[in-house]
Amino acid sequence: MSLNILIVEDEDAIREMLIMVLKQSNLQVFGVVNAEEALKFLADNPLPDLILLDWMLPGINGIQLAQRLKKDELYQQVPIILLTARGEEEDKIKGLDCGADDYMTKPFSPRELIARIKAVIRRGGKNINPQQISIGDMILDIAQHRLNIDNQIVEISPTEFRLMQFFMSHPDKVYSRTQLLDQVWGRSAYIEERTVDVHIRRLRKILANYQKDQLIKTVRGFGYRFSILD
Ligand code: CA
Repeated sequence: MSLNILIVEDEDAIREMLIMVLKQSNLQVFGVVNAEEALKFLADNPLPDLILLDWMLPGINGIQLAQRLKKDELYQQVPIILLTARGEEEDKIKGLDCGADDYMTKPFSPRELIARIKAVIRRGGKNINPQQISIGDMILDIAQHRLNIDNQIVEISPTEFRLMQFFMSHPDKVYSRTQLLDQVWGRSAYIEERTVDVHIRRLRKILANYQKDQLIKTVRGFGYRFSILD
């Protein structure tokens, strides 16, 4: 499947770099320099699968454009990843309020960008804190605390569930044991790092019942990655 991505970025160097990176991943890319051009492009072309939208644009800014698109029945299904510069914490929050599906802080690695684009498209443009995360035939229902794989309910303990939730919301990124402890158990918990290995082992065992254990990769000397790309 070839995905169409619209990039809205006024800085030529960044736009060109994004276009190059995405094309290398076999995505179809079209770049425009401001919101007005983006609206014109959307009106004249088939809907893109995703919009990469810079927040700081001259004229109508990224957040205003996102708000406009998300209010428009024609465009509201198109997922938007908002690009922000480092330190614009408040803007990130505004970005989420405006209906952007995800945001990324510049600078970011090409690999991370591609992974996030694919993850957002897979989620079908749902909110960044969705009640349900689905990747392929794996559906994680956060409210019900339930994991379904291949239409079967998976027996899973609360810790492994939280670990799975973290992995499914952060695919294709490497996390150290310490980072996983912070994210899954919370910073205040006093737990040894090898506890992470124990729970990873248990989660792999559960996933092995569905031939999914290979999704959790060990990154030697660093930690783990939940890999849905390869
Ligand atoms: Ca800009």
